[in-house]
Amino acid sequence: MASKYGIKEVFGTLQGEGAQAGTPAVFLRFAGCNLGYEVCPFCDTDWLRPSVVTDLEGTLALVRREAEASFGGERPGLLLVATGGEPSLQLDKPLSDALRARGYRIAMESNGSRPVDRSLVDWLTISPKQGEFAQKEGHELKLLFTGASIDGITPDVAAVRRMVEGTSFEQYFLQPVDVPEAGGPNYAEAIRAVMELGPPWRLSVQTHKVVGIP
Ligand code: SF4
Repeated sequence: MASKYGIKEVFGTLQGEGAQAGTPAVFLRFAGCNLGYEVCPFCDTDWLRPSVVTDLEGTLALVRREAEASFGGERPGLLLVATGGEPSLQLDKPLSDALRARGYRIAMESNGSRPVDRSLVDWLTISPKQGEFAQKEGHELKLLFTGASIDGITPDVAAVRRMVEGTSFEQYFLQPVDVPEAGGPNYAEAIRAVMELGPPWRLSVQTHKVVGIP
């Protein structure tokens, strides 16, 4: 169990993706990932080295500071998005309990490569980056659609269907992969794939990038 937390950044913004897009949230980005840039060449986050290594109280102080700066305080029900890197490597019961005691609703965005303790979070997003993954149930599955744009695990609808066999999520999202060298988000391909997949699939757009917020 972590007594120190390696944190990349903490900031207030709106959740940009998935079912909670548009929701005010404090993002707590942990440093460190168990997959890495070789597995995910399209990774768009800098999680490598922590900006801060601090204890529980220090982490709570960082979160409180950003909540006050962005939302005027730690309002009851404010969303706290634990992300990374891979947040399941660090979010533990003491931190989860302390955040909930301050009124946060805790969401986690995990790559699903290792089982997630669901008791620690109120909303679980799994965004697998490998054909095989461990955490097969949660609130939403958000699958990047690599399509023909780049080499990846979801080149077509058949690959998407194979990946989700045996999963049980409340909501399923397909999200365009965004690789600047390949011309940005492959919206057209992803839209065609969602239309072919049909229910329960929906398109997830990275709205924070569209509107220009973190
Ligand atoms: S799992 Fe996520 S954070 Fe880790 S390298 Fe892949 S895309 Fe980046």
